Amino acid sequence: MKLSLCGCGARAEYSVCLLISSRGVRPRRQKCGPAQLFCAACIQQLLTERWMKGAGGIQESLRNAYSQRLRGISQQNSILN
Ligand SMILES: [Zn+2]
Repeated sequence: MKLSLCGCGARAEYSVCLLISSRGVRPRRQKCGPAQLFCAACIQQLLTERWMKGAGGIQESLRNAYSQRLRGISQQNSILN
């Protein structure tokens, strides 16, 4: 079995996924992005330093992923409608 690695090369212990859900629309539409893998040290760093201080990295990543997902969902909607 392939070993899952964090971006730093350590064994991954956590994964983070971006889940986008529609609100006020039934049936609810949801889309989950690919899992990003983290070791304990990197998830700790992510949560304490980047996330809490609001430094650009993770927020920029989330913003980009969110924009891409929204484009994907709106494209799906235009195909379905
Ligand atoms: Zn790591």
